[in-house]
Amino acid sequence: MSDCLFCKIIAGEIPSDKVYEDELCYAFNDIAPQAPSHFLVIPKAHIGSVSEIDGSNSGLVAHIFEVIAKITAEKGIESYRVVSNIGEQAGQSVHHLHFHVLSGRDMTWPPG
Ligand code: 5GP
Ligand code: ZN
Repeated sequence: MSDCLFCKIIAGEIPSDKVYEDELCYAFNDIAPQAPSHFLVIPKAHIGSVSEIDGSNSGLVAHIFEVIAKITAEKGIESYRVVSNIGEQAGQSVHHLHFHVLSGRDMTWPPG
């Protein structure tokens, strides 16, 4: 999608600090980290949010979770939180599906 920030990052039009890449997804460090380690994993295909996941694209989401397990294992991250915000009230600011992967500090539950 031409007007999407994360599609521009995937296209290399906006620079990013790459963590991982394959044919289906891209991972990069968050520009405003909320924990000592905070990266985002996004599909290369534009999907607006979790609310657009269905039978046609859920395999991509399964792949992203495999990638999260692989990246964290390689980095030696044993405890971490995966978050996806959907919609304005939950705090979604970029409307391209992304999973935050946060670690390196104590975290509260429930989240704020
Ligand atoms: P959301 O608020 O939609 O759940 O998460 C969007 C995330 O994207 C935020 O954590 C924000 O810091 C991050 N972000 C926004 N713009 C950029 C950018 O240009 N580069 C990177 N690396 N992260 C960004
Ligand atoms: Zn996009």
